[in-house]
Amino acid sequence: MAYPETFSGIAILDNKDYTHPKKVDFEPKVLGDHDVDLKVECCGVCGSDHHMACGAWGESAKPTVLGHEVIGTVVKLGPKCNTGLKIGDRVGVGAQAFACLECDRCKSDNEQYCRKCVWTIGAPYADGYSSKGGFGNYVRLHEHFAVPIPEGLDSATIAPLLCGGITVYSPLLRNGCGPDKKVGIMGIGGIGHMGIMLTKAMGAEVYAISRSNAKKDDSFKLGADHYIATKEEPDWATKYDDTLDLVIICAGSLTDIDFDILPKVMKVGGKIISIAAPDASEKLEINPFGLLGVSIANSGIGSVKEIKQLLQLAKEKDIKPWVEQVPMGEDALGQVFARMDKGDVRYRFTMVDYDKVF
Ligand SMILES: [Zn+2]
Ligand SMILES: [Zn+2]
Repeated sequence: MAYPETFSGIAILDNKDYTHPKKVDFEPKVLGDHDVDLKVECCGVCGSDHHMACGAWGESAKPTVLGHEVIGTVVKLGPKCNTGLKIGDRVGVGAQAFACLECDRCKSDNEQYCRKCVWTIGAPYADGYSSKGGFGNYVRLHEHFAVPIPEGLDSATIAPLLCGGITVYSPLLRNGCGPDKKVGIMGIGGIGHMGIMLTKAMGAEVYAISRSNAKKDDSFKLGADHYIATKEEPDWATKYDDTLDLVIICAGSLTDIDFDILPKVMKVGGKIISIAAPDASEKLEINPFGLLGVSIANSGIGSVKEIKQLLQLAKEKDIKPWVEQVPMGEDALGQVFARMDKGDVRYRFTMVDYDKVF
């Protein structure tokens, strides 16, 4: 059987063998009144795909079809779809596939924090079906989370904005990033490199913060105004005392962040926002005295409204994440996960050429 009864994907069948994903056929979720089907064109590879592939967040239902920076074309609309999507529209999907859209959080454009949120990959729907993402030929999800892509944007280039990009854009937007603000982007990887571009595009002065000087040249090319190598400059917190309005920590884990030092570079009222989604076992230790006058919080992805704003900003300011395009396939996706193990990516992968595999 083929579409629409059966979808295919390159799936993780065993978390211990995550560098050898296999092509499988699977049944999609039951078509909801407001669901749409997308034919996938390409899909970015996010740190959380890797996390889930290797089981860092625990076991997920198998087969696990990852991929949550999906760009595709609408090929089917549920009977009650009413957001204006049409067959043939090019849309993007990030990390979220469902929310109730009725609670206070949903109604205030905070649907990413809805208690009934279903993530795009490996998350249970109310009926127990485990969500499946964009490393397959089709994706079925609630129409609210299929966001129209403005004309002129290249799919493979901007796919990483849909999760990685929005994850750093939302806290920038919500915490006053803009002209006359000094903003630190700490951790220059997949999300951090987009963080530098976006902070600059929003008009702030950008401080790229990394451990070594390895990312220095790249950071300036991406738009940073200043570069701090914390391991090379042990007195960096003294040098930059009372400087920053906002720091977004774009690291995958907080274990390497010294929270006795970082708050010293913050102005009074400054905010330290982490977007880390670390191993399930990680705990944060902070000396409360260090946080005098400074706030710290954690942020998760962004709302659909913010994703739309981000795509518009990308169009207006010609924002292009640094993407390595990889033709989709079992071996290719396995290699991508293996290279992510080694940090061998500058700065993001997008899986492309779906027509050759599915
Ligand atoms: Zn809700
Ligand atoms: Zn992600």
